[in-house]
Amino acid sequence: MFDNGHQYIAGELRTGTGDRDVEIVNPATGAVLATPDLASAADVDAAVRAARDGYATWSRVTPAERSDAMHAFAAELRTRSEDLARAETLQTGKPIRMSRDFDIAGSIDNVAFFAGTARHLPGLASGEYSGEHTSTIRREPIGVVGSIAPWNYPLQMAAWKVLPAIAAGNTIVLKAAEITPYTALMFAEAATTAGIPAGVINVLTGTGPVAGEALVGHRDVSMVSFTGSTAVGTRVGAIAAGAAKRVHLELGGKAPLVVFDDADLDAAIHGAVAGSCINTGQDCTAATRAIVHESLYDAFCDGVADIMASMRLGDPHDDDTDLGPLSSQRHLERVRTHVEKAKANGATVRSGSLPRGAEYAEGSFFPPTLVTGIDRDAAIMHDEVFGPVLAAVPFGSDDEALEIANDTPYGLAASAWTRDLNRANRASREIQAGCVWINDHIPIISEMPHGGYKQSGFGKDMSAYSFEEYTQVKHVMVENTAVPRKDWHRIVFADRSGETS
Ligand code: NAD
Repeated sequence: MFDNGHQYIAGELRTGTGDRDVEIVNPATGAVLATPDLASAADVDAAVRAARDGYATWSRVTPAERSDAMHAFAAELRTRSEDLARAETLQTGKPIRMSRDFDIAGSIDNVAFFAGTARHLPGLASGEYSGEHTSTIRREPIGVVGSIAPWNYPLQMAAWKVLPAIAAGNTIVLKAAEITPYTALMFAEAATTAGIPAGVINVLTGTGPVAGEALVGHRDVSMVSFTGSTAVGTRVGAIAAGAAKRVHLELGGKAPLVVFDDADLDAAIHGAVAGSCINTGQDCTAATRAIVHESLYDAFCDGVADIMASMRLGDPHDDDTDLGPLSSQRHLERVRTHVEKAKANGATVRSGSLPRGAEYAEGSFFPPTLVTGIDRDAAIMHDEVFGPVLAAVPFGSDDEALEIANDTPYGLAASAWTRDLNRANRASREIQAGCVWINDHIPIISEMPHGGYKQSGFGKDMSAYSFEEYTQVKHVMVENTAVPRKDWHRIVFADRSGETS
């Protein structure tokens, strides 16, 4: 794949001029798929120049023309959806059902949503607020956006960054995660085929320290949007802040799933497994901390462990596979270390099975895992594991449950399970997170925002809120009286024209 290079600049694939020291690996088998030509700082510069050139025209076409091009883009992606799903599964190891029905379908819906949003520029009504001027609001694009994406949802994260930016008339340079660039490159190619002009969407394959930092610090990049870990996000934020650039950060998470004593237990058990194992747990909103009323705790844990034990791990291209591998051996080691540490500290660990077969010996598989027998201060209740691992603790009172739910520096998402309307309202009000689900965990929708509280970052993806973030608001004030000497001037200097000396 991508024999012509891994850099999509000005509407064509190019070979990067950086090092070749990263391997793209099929995480299910360990087979090396490519050793890509990585982007150097010079490639970043070329991509930013292409985006700057593209901006001159794209920022001036009418919203309707941008919208039409994006509708054509959505249609083009639909024709390529099976290829996109297979490529996503190949590079990430996520099950093909997930790629087809969540990643690709969701991304295409996003394109269609932002095609509509492009024509809707909200603002205050024009008016004569001062009495002597007409005030109007212009909502304008910002310029070239530099964006950095993680490896867990390569296409969706690209879509969440690219679409609101271009819908608003910006152009973009997206740095894909170096181990999963394929679907972002395919996305950019489809945009060009659909008629989105060259230079509007540029995609680089490169490492964070080289291409990422060159992009964030580039003088012609006016805004930075980043999705990834809190550690890297704070560094990216600091570089951008140094040049007073607008920044949008979508960072880590440690979502609680609170099960009150009146919850539908069966729904909570199934929701907890789906919510913790989605994308092999490599989801920033995944349920990671089950906080369960003591009266339901044992039954909840048994139910979760039973379903986890029945989940099938194996070939991610097989429709029957429930759980694929983690994204890399390096990440597998990280997840394993978190669970081993919990075990060494006395936790009880119940795991499902690993796939059988010699072909998986080098795969990065980790079984779905439930961790119990811990207290709320255990490291596994606080550290972001980013694997199919659910830690569960019991609680006694509602106050205690909500306190544990908020006992984290993160605040991306949470869920509360209850049939009581007042409890549901209290949980949605008091849990400090950008999204609170009631009696579900995970669903997202193009019309509604996704984004963090606390150290999960700031700024929203999807929805009209993200569109607004990629625009800037200008107030234009037109003087209407044509009186040369304005009354307000007397605040600054006295009118002495009538004085005699
Ligand atoms: P990461 O922070 O290691 O890498 C993210 C991206 O940043 C990659 O493209 C990487 O190359 C780049 N990068 C690394 N160092 C950089 C630097 N010094 N300068 C500029 N760019 C740099 O994260 P990851 O391991 O790829 O992804 C997992 C993390 O992403 C988790 O913490 C997860 O919670 C988070 N995430 C958050 C959201 C959200 O919406 N909040 C969504 C998906 C993933």
